[in-house]
Amino acid sequence: MTTTTQEKPKASPVLAGGPAPDMFRRLAGMPVVTGKRETMVVHSPLTLEPLGEIPKCTEADVVEAVRRARAAQPAWAARPIRERARVLFEFHKLLFRNEAALLDLIQVESGKARRHAFEEIMDTAGVARHYAVRAERYLKPRRRRGAIPLLTVTHELHHPVGVVGAISPWNFPLILAITDLLPALVAGNAAVLKPDRRGSFTALRAVELLREAGLPPEVLQVVTGEGARLGPPLIAGVDFIMFTGSTATGKTIAAEAAPRLIGYSLELGGKNPLIVLDDVDLDQAVEGALRGSFVGAGQVCVSIERLYVQERIFDAFAERFARATRELKLSAALDWSGDMGSITSESQLHTIELHVQDAVAKGARVLAGGRRRPDIGPLFFEPTVLVHVTPAMTCYAHETFGPVVSLYPYRTVDEVIERANDTPYGLNAAVWGSDVRRAFDVARRIRAGSVNINEGYGATWASTDSPIGGFKESGMGRRHGAEGILKYTEAQTISRQRWLPLSAPGDMPYQRWARIMSWLLNLQARIPGLR
Ligand code: NAD
Repeated sequence: MTTTTQEKPKASPVLAGGPAPDMFRRLAGMPVVTGKRETMVVHSPLTLEPLGEIPKCTEADVVEAVRRARAAQPAWAARPIRERARVLFEFHKLLFRNEAALLDLIQVESGKARRHAFEEIMDTAGVARHYAVRAERYLKPRRRRGAIPLLTVTHELHHPVGVVGAISPWNFPLILAITDLLPALVAGNAAVLKPDRRGSFTALRAVELLREAGLPPEVLQVVTGEGARLGPPLIAGVDFIMFTGSTATGKTIAAEAAPRLIGYSLELGGKNPLIVLDDVDLDQAVEGALRGSFVGAGQVCVSIERLYVQERIFDAFAERFARATRELKLSAALDWSGDMGSITSESQLHTIELHVQDAVAKGARVLAGGRRRPDIGPLFFEPTVLVHVTPAMTCYAHETFGPVVSLYPYRTVDEVIERANDTPYGLNAAVWGSDVRRAFDVARRIRAGSVNINEGYGATWASTDSPIGGFKESGMGRRHGAEGILKYTEAQTISRQRWLPLSAPGDMPYQRWARIMSWLLNLQARIPGLR
């Protein structure tokens, strides 16, 4: 949470045993500034105590950050890929060596429960390990089939695009600030990161750890401040823009990238469904739906906001799910005791509350939760389960981005697939069922970039070997896997023609050459090994 006032943070430590004020002062010195800058105070959502101040960077700072990154990029790209990959390996080690302090930092800055903060460390380490191991294979020059077998020798090469810009949101301050940059860096790019104001300290700490892991400091620059102010000069200067955030801002980013024809990748919003088939083990489905709906207090792009349950088991499921929701423990403590943490900002809390109030005013019933919990912390909101939600209610189709899930009964599989797909979004979905083949059949008919079977979100997200991203208005491009690194490269084809030219040789009449070529190409089509 931030304000843009000149208010000075108090010297007191934020939460007993949490990160020391010294660390915030050190991190605040990392963003690129070309003069004296105003600052923004960052507060902890857990207590609303100030954590520290970050610079409010300007357009000139962004230009300078891009200039520094561009100057550093050729030397970085010239290093052998194994050397660049070693930095990722080392970063992986440092994440775990600094685990407890990182968990504290993520908790105090985002307000999330420690178990959800740990998911950030696990996932960031997973991505670092994946690209450390696989980058060389993804990027190595490849021999390709030439225009004419034997006569044309073709190679595919991948060059770094140059400088990658990254704009990240607040909800996963570690994962979303840094994991998309790891493949960009190992591919030989330099980068400029603009984290969200509300996750800046965690992002800066991750950058500091990468530098400690051996990344030359100039290769990854950071600017902090207002997105709407820093986005345009960033997009005007870089060679590729990686954006994670709302669909509305994503469209602005795409429009700003268009005049320069730079590539972009957009990871945007969702309204994710979970389908409970009639053959489930109810206890497992309830536990999974609970985790899928309330991870990060529902402020997670891939968390579940729509729960469709087959009508024969609807009442039993709803009763158990509501009971389990009421039993979840909310906690502001920097320990492992909490099942769910705080909402990250007052504005997000306000949106969540409005969605619930609107639904209730129009006839929805609250099965669990539905209220603020100032007794636990200033921005806490109970995990909430709604039934009787109709299209007239805001939370029916709009992303709430909070711990609010609506339960709907359905009759047939065809009907539920149609309802799950009836959204402009297509980010994540989940299917719960005992018959794995049937669940798979349902999964592949859902128009979403990731579909989890017998899990809410984590199975696909953590399968870093496979691309993930959004269908429809949930995104463009993919993260993870080959797509997640090749997008940061320019593909180049180099072909050498040998022995005979690609035209009639010597004084052979063109017509005869054309006949020979037709015969050869038809032969090629008939021989499997040459196709
Ligand atoms: P947001 O779009 O408001 O902000 C995201 C980032 O963009 C922030 O760093 C912000 O400062 C910056 N920004 C804002 N306006 C800008 C502009 N005009 N130009 C350039 N940058 C600008 O999103 P948010 O509310 O912070 O994040 C929540 C949204 O993000 C939700 O819709 C959520 O579903 C989505 N999200 C998607 C993913 C994913 O992987 N698909 C992950 C997390 C969050």
